[in-house]
Amino acid sequence: MSESADGDLGVRVVALSWVDNAGISRVKAIPARRLEHANRWGVGMAPVFDTFLVDDSRAGGVGFDGPVGDLRLRPDLTRLTPLAAQHGWAWAPADRYSQDGTPYAGCQRSFAIRMTREAQARGIELRMGFETEWTVEEDPDAAATLSGRSGPGPAYGLARLTGSGPYLLDIADVLADQRIDLLQIHPEYETGQYEVSTAPESPVDAADTAVLVRHSVRALSARHGLLPSFAPLTTPSGAGNGGHLHLSPWRAGANLLHGGSGPYGMTPDGEAFLAGILENLPALTAIGCPSPASYLRLIPSQWAGAYQCWGRENREAALRLVTGQHGAADTANVEVKCFDQAANPYLLVGTVIAAGLAGIDEGLRLPPEYRGDPASAPPITLDRLGIRRLPDTLTASIGQLEESAMLRRAMGDRLVDAVLAVRRGEEKLFASRTPAEIVEATRWRF
Ligand code: GLU
Ligand code: MG
Repeated sequence: MSESADGDLGVRVVALSWVDNAGISRVKAIPARRLEHANRWGVGMAPVFDTFLVDDSRAGGVGFDGPVGDLRLRPDLTRLTPLAAQHGWAWAPADRYSQDGTPYAGCQRSFAIRMTREAQARGIELRMGFETEWTVEEDPDAAATLSGRSGPGPAYGLARLTGSGPYLLDIADVLADQRIDLLQIHPEYETGQYEVSTAPESPVDAADTAVLVRHSVRALSARHGLLPSFAPLTTPSGAGNGGHLHLSPWRAGANLLHGGSGPYGMTPDGEAFLAGILENLPALTAIGCPSPASYLRLIPSQWAGAYQCWGRENREAALRLVTGQHGAADTANVEVKCFDQAANPYLLVGTVIAAGLAGIDEGLRLPPEYRGDPASAPPITLDRLGIRRLPDTLTASIGQLEESAMLRRAMGDRLVDAVLAVRRGEEKLFASRTPAEIVEATRWRF
């Protein structure tokens, strides 16, 4: 933090955060005057967090879950942001380094950086952005609870702004103060449910922004006497919170999803990139839908994208193609709808890039698009088209990840083994719990 920014904004403490394999953002904070030092030398943190589960217990017996060893958290100063909803604080995402100064093989954000560079080396720039959905309830412990903030009223209803208008306005202000390029903000389907989406940027920036948006919403909500939950499901029968990822592959300044001769004007590499993601989606669910709670959300006919298919503007397809508007075809992108916010966004952007590049390597083509809700088609029709449900349990998705040589190659042994240990650990942790108990146990964790 520069002297002047420090003085002007009154920043005294900087939060350095990283996201673990269970999807939890972890933090260490330093005084602002130590930032230069932390940038040079890092801040110590134990590697054992690689095997932490959603409830802070550990996946044991996996070889690197012991008490020994240390890593260095180094802030990425290009994303250093004074926190507009928490005066005196700033935030920066951190990369984890080994003590010898090399990027740590189990670091999720370094993985996302590496995959971005691998795409760049092949002339492909990715533009990405997450949608952030959350659900609030009145905080019973907040002294200043303001009634009506959770905004009862119809789904996406204007009436909801009567109660929630001031809250959403404050969120828009806080994001703007932090130079986050907000595209949309609205009341979502359910009472107390909202969404923001942000402009496309580089994959690692998109993941950083997702972390910062959630933290900012959390801090701002507290001021309104509200508790936000970003969990896949917050009540057993309620609407889910998705964490849809929008993306477009670019080469030499041109969007590969338009100007070509493929479906809806995709170029061959643009189509192959999407086909690579589509083909690998079952294994990617172990990254993007990582919690037992994820599978309570990932069900048909809820706009969660539970089927392995694609379609233009199809909200029941895991890949929804959004073609650019007339005159703005460059905005063409694909929305991966099946993912939620229990996911580590760095692992997610890295593995999605790996799948897309594999699609290019293999020259894959997309199958025909599917129009409509696959859940209302007879099973025989779906069989004929080769359209399957994505894994419907964590166990099934773990099996898919275990079998993916492509993801093991891209992530490296250390990272993929840590992720698998955490997935298996949570599979065991929740094996005998009811859906309601799973929702309760994960609701306030992400
Ligand atoms: N809340 C839905 C989900 O769980 C998504 C709604 C939408 O398409 O915006 O993914
Ligand atoms: Mg939405």
